[in-house]
Amino acid sequence: MTRWRYATATDTGLVRETNQDAMLVTDSLALVADGMGGHAAGEVASILTTEVVGELFERNSTVEGLYSAIEAANLAIIADARENPERFGMGTTVIAVGLTHDSMGVISPTLFNVGDSRAYQLRDGALRQLSEDHSVAEEWVRMGRLTPEEAATHPRRHQLTRALGVDDALDIDVSSIDALPGDRILLCSDGLSNELSVDSLAKLASAPKPLEEAVNELVSAAKHSGGRDNISVVLLEFDEVNVASSPIKKTVSAKAPPVATSQMASAIHPSRRRRRLTWRVWAGAAFIALVAAGAVAVVHWYAYSGYYLGDDAGLIAVYQGQPNGVLWYKPVKVLDTTYSARNLRPSDIRSLQATISEPSLTAALHYASYLHTAWLLSRATSPPVVTTTTLAKG
Ligand code: MG
Repeated sequence: MTRWRYATATDTGLVRETNQDAMLVTDSLALVADGMGGHAAGEVASILTTEVVGELFERNSTVEGLYSAIEAANLAIIADARENPERFGMGTTVIAVGLTHDSMGVISPTLFNVGDSRAYQLRDGALRQLSEDHSVAEEWVRMGRLTPEEAATHPRRHQLTRALGVDDALDIDVSSIDALPGDRILLCSDGLSNELSVDSLAKLASAPKPLEEAVNELVSAAKHSGGRDNISVVLLEFDEVNVASSPIKKTVSAKAPPVATSQMASAIHPSRRRRRLTWRVWAGAAFIALVAAGAVAVVHWYAYSGYYLGDDAGLIAVYQGQPNGVLWYKPVKVLDTTYSARNLRPSDIRSLQATISEPSLTAALHYASYLHTAWLLSRATSPPVVTTTTLAKG
């Protein structure tokens, strides 16, 4: 068995008005997500990530399962932004450690990373960074264009080259963690790592104190240093560890270019290009744009206002949109569940083939789970005994 104890702490900090970080820790999964986007959208992106990843990892706790769960969270954020245009551009980082099962039943810790939240390992008071930041400045350090010292103050140090919510295709760094009993793992948002030196992080996170005290002292120190961003900390300590028989190499490398693409840059920092126009052209264009935008917004809202379950090559899949589409808006598949679309009660198979509508992604996932459970229960129940009684006339 591999087991950990944990403590968490989060704080809005001294400058931001809201806390857009989100955390999730269970006996087998620890995750920090640092959301970004105005109008509380960053909060939606980070919370959605904890919900989707938590729910899907519970059903499939392999490396592939956790990878797919993070991909599903990415698609769920994109789907939510499509449904709620005021959240356009929202995104989140994710750093997660899962106790993943391999085919031999060995459970070992595996690290997943997208963005610039960080994971550190602490052993004997020494601290080692496990994750690589996906920011423009850190990519340039890896290319040799900047020194780490220059990157620490570079204006593009906060500009991410990877995040959830930006593109359907997502690259996730995956690596196994070689842990020993007594090792601690620190997961944090950049509100902690930007405020404290490596020496301070090492000293506070490895202090021989209860984990609860250590996380609270880390947050206090970050606030004392300025608290310019939301601060979130998860501290894990391994009690028991199974060593994986074949450590996983880093399986996914950064396919994204080392500088922010124009698409990424515009998603995070919407372009503000403006053109000079005469007032007549401006007024005419504005009127037409207003009418067109209103019509498009109404159709768009209706087209993606719901979710439904369907059969996708034998698995129950969750789609967003109207089953037959609306004008040019076709429904999009949000994710495949792990549930078979064939192993269901006959009436549920018919319902699924006709598509089952649900108001939200969470409701759709719950209903898929219900369909599967109902089938399992129907199999567990013995069929009713049919007896034939013949009455003999005397
Ligand atoms: Mg942050």
